[in-house]
Amino acid sequence: MHRTQLYIDGAFTAPEAGGTFPAIDPATEQPFAEVAAGQGADIDRAVRAARRAFDSGVWSGLSGTVRAGHLRRIAQGLRDRLAEIAALEVRDNGKPLPEAEWDVGDAAFTFDYYADLAEAEDSRAEEEVDVGDARFRATIRREPLGVVGAITPWNYPLLMAVWKVAPALAAGCTLVLKPSEICSMSCEVLAQIIHAAGLPPGVFNLVTGTGPEAGQPLADHPLCDKLAFTGSVATGRKVMNAAASGIRTVALELGGKSPFLVFADCDIEKAVEWILFGIFWNKGEVCSATSRVLVERSLYPRLLERLRQAAEAITIGAGNEPGVKLGPIVSRGQYEKILAAIASGTASGARLVSGGERPAGLPTGYFLKPTIFADVPVEASIWREEIFGPVVCVNPFDTEEEALRLANDSAFGLAGAVMSDDLERCERVACRLRAGIVWINCSQPTFVQLPWGGFKTSGIGRELGRAGFEAYFETKQITRFDPAESWGWYLAGGQ
Ligand code: NDP
Repeated sequence: MHRTQLYIDGAFTAPEAGGTFPAIDPATEQPFAEVAAGQGADIDRAVRAARRAFDSGVWSGLSGTVRAGHLRRIAQGLRDRLAEIAALEVRDNGKPLPEAEWDVGDAAFTFDYYADLAEAEDSRAEEEVDVGDARFRATIRREPLGVVGAITPWNYPLLMAVWKVAPALAAGCTLVLKPSEICSMSCEVLAQIIHAAGLPPGVFNLVTGTGPEAGQPLADHPLCDKLAFTGSVATGRKVMNAAASGIRTVALELGGKSPFLVFADCDIEKAVEWILFGIFWNKGEVCSATSRVLVERSLYPRLLERLRQAAEAITIGAGNEPGVKLGPIVSRGQYEKILAAIASGTASGARLVSGGERPAGLPTGYFLKPTIFADVPVEASIWREEIFGPVVCVNPFDTEEEALRLANDSAFGLAGAVMSDDLERCERVACRLRAGIVWINCSQPTFVQLPWGGFKTSGIGRELGRAGFEAYFETKQITRFDPAESWGWYLAGGQ
């Protein structure tokens, strides 16, 4: 059985304490690899290596164009090993193979995109600022932020890591990556590809391990300049507390309970297609999943019925089987959490329209039917809390104003979607949704060029796009006084 390694200071290595934990295939419930269980001592070695690499200038001192060359080699490495990584991601996470292939392609493109921005950085002149006093010349300069501690989740194991690794490297930062213990495998391949691309030792480091034993020491490490986190609100709070005690920069990409507003004038088939994509793509293990659907009352019964038929026609099975559109839930823990949420939904008085149970014929593996609740009390936890699984709640509304009120009545504000043939209405609703991402007449398409992140408890900061690059810089002002002048405050001389 394959045993993974840590990657610290340019070398693949075992954890100091030597421990491992199993990687479990959620379709079979069987272990298929042993993952290196890094701990505080390994995190410390990795952070110190990243610190040395950063402070020496071996990476931050290179031109953006040279760094871009490395990034493009990493992108090519991902493309060269796409089939292998996608198959590994299916085994580790359970997602259908075409979705995993999509993720790896996106990861490669993310490196190419940030390579372009790194190159452009070379021709970006220092900004000169007129401070209203001719004796001073003031400039604003951007410098890489330093050592980044990146902590990532299991829903897009490779892609969520790359959303941090690519812009941080492009900007000249160095990193320690701690992926989720539930899905760590593809990050080891990423480390191999980065190693083969010839980055100097210490620039990128990988420490797999559990949240408490590896994640928390990384969050607490005093030599990190920034913490970049994606995951749950509860863990995000711990990471933010750690950042607060060390006064470190922190970026949080947390959960959501995103609304999808469907108006009666839209095409019902298109609405159903995007509702399905918005909640069953990647098994609903998506922070931006549109898990609360609000439907204009005149369309509500017809849409619910069509949605039920379409959901029941989805092929469920292991992610590597052809035609499967819904794989197993990622882990036993997450499976049980979703089943508990479904039970609480039924107990709340919501109407279970479809699913809610294991499909017949799949006795092993964390399989669950696509699940639809309707007429959900808005105080119920299934309406308010993130489930992170293939469970959608559908409720009716009467007016645009009511739809917006229900949509915005959430602690989260990551994403939202609106569907209507009236594009003016769509634009109006889009502007009034309190969310960082709004889709019109679709749900979920994500572009590397656009900023990603949420309002309210959905997080702090933005990834992707130019904003995701700027997030890895410090701003410095350099103010120069003309040596021919004298200040003349304490000393009269000079003239
Ligand atoms: P977590 O937030 O616990 O995990 C995210 C990352 O944080 C993982 O790498 C995890 O490691 C790590 N971590 C855990 N504890 C600590 C700690 N004390 N200090 C530093 N890092 C830590 O999410 P879960 O995997 O437990 O999922 C729980 C719920 O979170 C889901 O049901 C879903 O609602 C939400 N979630 C949201 C995501 C998003 O994209 N917004 C992604 C994943 C989950 P490890 O996995 O090894 O414990």
